[in-house]
Amino acid sequence: MVRVGVAMLQGARHEHCEALQHAAIELGKTIEIVELRKSKQVDDSIHALILPGGESTTMRIASQSESLLNGIFAWMISHPNRPVLGTCAGAILLANPGSKHDRFIDAEVSRNAWGRQRFSFEAPLQVNLETPQPSSESYYELSRDKFNHKPLPMSSQAAKRESNDFPGVFIRAPRFIENTINCEKIVKLNGETVGVMQDNKLALTFHPELTEDRRFHRWLIDKITNDSM
Ligand code: GLN
Repeated sequence: MVRVGVAMLQGARHEHCEALQHAAIELGKTIEIVELRKSKQVDDSIHALILPGGESTTMRIASQSESLLNGIFAWMISHPNRPVLGTCAGAILLANPGSKHDRFIDAEVSRNAWGRQRFSFEAPLQVNLETPQPSSESYYELSRDKFNHKPLPMSSQAAKRESNDFPGVFIRAPRFIENTINCEKIVKLNGETVGVMQDNKLALTFHPELTEDRRFHRWLIDKITNDSM
């Protein structure tokens, strides 16, 4: 069974679980979603991992009691090609895992670089990534999880079904510093890079889990190879 870990520190973690479930249905695959709270959960049996968006300082603080981030970074070092999706604050953590670790993606990020919360925005993005197409147009209802948490409803603008452009949702987002990017540029907003990839680690400055376009979640599941099983 394919096992995908989601770091449950803070932020849009339930929405990622929802998006993963939906992506698996679209691919006709069965996956197990592992809600990661303690570092000892992040072992060899995790085949892929998501670092959600939220607030990276809060995540670093929330991680202290159970050392979850250190466990995740150690897992990424032991399994350098297992797929990882880091979104927004998750992208910040991949680019800047802290003083004990080298960056996992070779790019500098500037936090909150679009300005304050009220300057959050939605915009169409251009994606250069091979992703498997959904095999079924499955109806999917937002459900409550075992903690009675219901994922955020998707915003009307962003919730449009898939087209070539990706509906980008930027919430107090970071920005990559263009001339520091030394890895693959995957997603663009008006020519500016907003998504990069290195060693199967995809760092996006926006929130794909808040849309109905699951291509990045399908990519993550699809990238799990027999080697990592
Ligand atoms: N501003 C947040 C940070 O610095 C990131 C925002 C987000 O994840 N939506 O961590």
